[in-house]
Amino acid sequence: MDTQMLIGASLVAGTETEESILNPRTGELIATLPEASLAQVDAAVAAAGAAFASWSRTTPAERSGYLLKIAERIEAEAESLAALEALNCGKPGPLALGDELPAIIDCFRFFAGAVRCMTGPVAGEYLAGHTSMIRRDPVGIVASIAPWNYPLMMMAWKIAPAIGAGNTVVFKPSEQTPLTALAMARIFAEVLPEGVVNIVLGRGETVGSALINHPAVAMISITGDIATGRKILEAANKTIKRTHLELGGKAPVIIFDDADLEAAVTGLRAFGYYNAGQDCTAACRIYVQSGLHDRFVAALTDAVAAIPYGLADDSLNEIGPLISLRQRDRVASFVARAREAAHIEVTTGGALPEGPGFYYQPTVIAGARQSDEIVRREVFGPVVSVTRFEEAAEAVAWANDSDYGLASSVWTRDVSKGLQVASQLQYGCTWVNTHFMLTNEMPHGGMKQSGYGKDMSSYALEDYSAVRHVMIAH
Ligand code: NAD
Repeated sequence: MDTQMLIGASLVAGTETEESILNPRTGELIATLPEASLAQVDAAVAAAGAAFASWSRTTPAERSGYLLKIAERIEAEAESLAALEALNCGKPGPLALGDELPAIIDCFRFFAGAVRCMTGPVAGEYLAGHTSMIRRDPVGIVASIAPWNYPLMMMAWKIAPAIGAGNTVVFKPSEQTPLTALAMARIFAEVLPEGVVNIVLGRGETVGSALINHPAVAMISITGDIATGRKILEAANKTIKRTHLELGGKAPVIIFDDADLEAAVTGLRAFGYYNAGQDCTAACRIYVQSGLHDRFVAALTDAVAAIPYGLADDSLNEIGPLISLRQRDRVASFVARAREAAHIEVTTGGALPEGPGFYYQPTVIAGARQSDEIVRREVFGPVVSVTRFEEAAEAVAWANDSDYGLASSVWTRDVSKGLQVASQLQYGCTWVNTHFMLTNEMPHGGMKQSGYGKDMSSYALEDYSAVRHVMIAH
C-alpha cells in the first residue's frame, strides 16, 4: 500500500498528527497516516509554483499526452485501485471496478482530447484598425480538495481539467479516504514533470485551511459540504481567489401518474441507494402523483427491502456501509426524528442491521411533507422520502423549494410534459425517465447553494482557465 504524499518530485510521509484510516465494513484499522506539516504544505505550494512556469507553456498536445499516460497507468492498475477504494470506502469491489474505474480512466482521456479542441469567438477587427483575439490561459496554482464519497473519481474530475488547462495543483484528499490518492501520488511522480501535481494529507481545519488561505494559491476547487464551501469563500475573499464549488444536493424526483411504474421503481432502487446514498445527486426526495402514489410506495418498499448488502460474496452486494460511525449515527438520527411525526411511516428499513461495520438498513420514508426535515436536509445515506402530490405545478414548486440545486429528475411517458417540467426546475441537471447517469462530455454542477463549479465537459476547462483579450493596434 502506498503511504507517501507527493511534494515536488519526492514521495514523503507527513510529520504531524496521525489519522486512523478505518475499514467501514468492519470498523477495523487499515493504517495510520500522519498529516502534512505547515512547512510541507508550503513546500507543496512552492513546488506547484516552480512547475507552473514551464507547465503553463506546454502545448495542449503535450499536456494531452501526459493525460493519456495517466489514463493508461490507471487502466493498468485498475483492479488494485478499485480494491483499495473498496477497502477504504466500504464500496462493493466489483462496482468500484466496473462502474467507477472506467469513468475515471475516461475522464483523463476525455480531457486529453478536449484540451486540444477548445473554441472561442473569432479573432477579428471589432474596432477599426485593431485586431482582437481571445486567449484562454491557465489560472495558476490550484488548491484542490476532495470529499470521501468517490475519492478517486473526484480526484480525476478535479486534476484532469486543471492540469489539462495548464495549471499546477496541490491536492488534498479527504482525511478519511486518502488511500487511492496515495497510489496516484506514485503514478503522478512517475508520469508527470516535477511539481505539476502535489498531494498532501490532512484534516480540513489544519492542512485544508493552510492551503485555502495560502497567498500563492490562485484558485480553490472543492467538493464538500455547504458549510465548508462558506469557509472557502471566506478564505478566497482575502486575496480574491477564484473558486470552484460543488456543495451537495437534495435531488427531487417527480413521478407522474403516467410514468412507467416498473422503470421508476427499478430506477429509484438503484439511483436512490447507490453508494449507500452517499451521493450528492442521490434520488432521495421523491414526489409521486396521487394516482400512482400508493402502488409506487408498495413497489418501492418491496424493491428496497430486497437490496443485498453485507454479504460475504461481494459480487452480490449492491451497497456498502456508510463511511464512518459518525455518518451512520447522523443518518440514524435523521430517521429517528422523522418517525416522531404521526404522518410518517417507515415502510422498510429504519434500523441498524446486526453485525460489525457502519451499515444502515436501506430505508423508505412514506407520508413525508414538504416542511419535514427529512425532505429539506441532505441525509447522505440510504434513506429516501416519498411525498404525494396532485398537480404538476405543486410538484415543481416543492422541487424548487430547496437551498440545493444540483440534480433532479422527472418520470413520465409524455416527453413533452417531461421537457416542460425540466425547463422549470432550478437544478444543474434534470434527467427525464432516468437519474444519476453521468458522461464526461456533459457538465456536472449545481445552482443555488449546491455551488457553481462545473466538473467534466469542456465547461470544466473553462472553469480552470482565464478568458483574456489581446488587442493589437495597427
Ligand atoms: P466536507 O465538506 O466535510 O469535506 C470535504 C473536504 O473539505 C475534505 O477534504 C475536508 O478535509 C475538507 N475541508 C473541511 N473543512 C475545511 C476547511 N475549513 N478548509 C479546507 N478544507 C476543508 O464534506 P465531506 O463530508 O467529505 O463530503 C460530503 C459532502 O460533499 C456532502 O455534503 C456532499 O453532498 C458533498 N458532495 C458534493 C458533490 C458535488 O458534486 N456537488 C460530490 C460529492 C460530495
